[in-house]
Amino acid sequence: MKMRKLSKNKAVVLFSGGQDSSIALAWALDRFEHIETIGFDYSQRHAIELGARKKVRSVLKENFAEWDARLGDDLVVSAGGLHDLGATAMTDHIAIEVAEDGLPNTFVPGRNLLFLVLAAGMAYRRDLGVIVAGMCEADYSGYPDCREGALAAQMKALQLGVDANVSLETPLMHIDKAESWRLAEKLGGEKLVTLINEHSHSCYQGVRATRYDWGYGCGECPACELRAKGWAGYKAA
Ligand code: ZN
Repeated sequence: MKMRKLSKNKAVVLFSGGQDSSIALAWALDRFEHIETIGFDYSQRHAIELGARKKVRSVLKENFAEWDARLGDDLVVSAGGLHDLGATAMTDHIAIEVAEDGLPNTFVPGRNLLFLVLAAGMAYRRDLGVIVAGMCEADYSGYPDCREGALAAQMKALQLGVDANVSLETPLMHIDKAESWRLAEKLGGEKLVTLINEHSHSCYQGVRATRYDWGYGCGECPACELRAKGWAGYKAA
């Protein structure tokens, strides 16, 4: 049996509608000829993220003609098992807390691992040789499945398990949130920065009632704090 050779100019982007995955999507649109997106429905506390995905996709298509031609299908896959397991602040109505080991209970064990398995399945079926994802270990909440070592080990297993040359690109891995805004500016100018700031969604509480200079959110949860800090850093430079 010969390893299946997937197209290396085609990619699937893990796209949640958040700041990081929106910038990762723009990075992929700048780089690959054909891009598809995958999202996951696991009855997350706030389906508002899934609405943000549609909006970000559509404004990118409306505002960047070259990207419009490259951006193909979107698939939302059920990952409901994560909700069935429960007991995290992302899947249940419980307060966000930090455990003794320093890990917040917004961590959903196995989530990114599952997402990569499903993305690799889509990549294999649809001849998309590269998975692009917005994981970042520069300024993050300490989620172990965002770390480069965990991702590299899993990609090795996936390549063997589907016997295909599917690979992973994580353009935000080593840059912080301020630098990722600078990357967005490089990719699509101030127009892209403004669009992502306006339409992407990060807030864990699913709040879009208040507009801050860094986007919409509750202004208090760890995701809002991180986003506010990154924006301030970007603007200060
Ligand atoms: Zn928030």
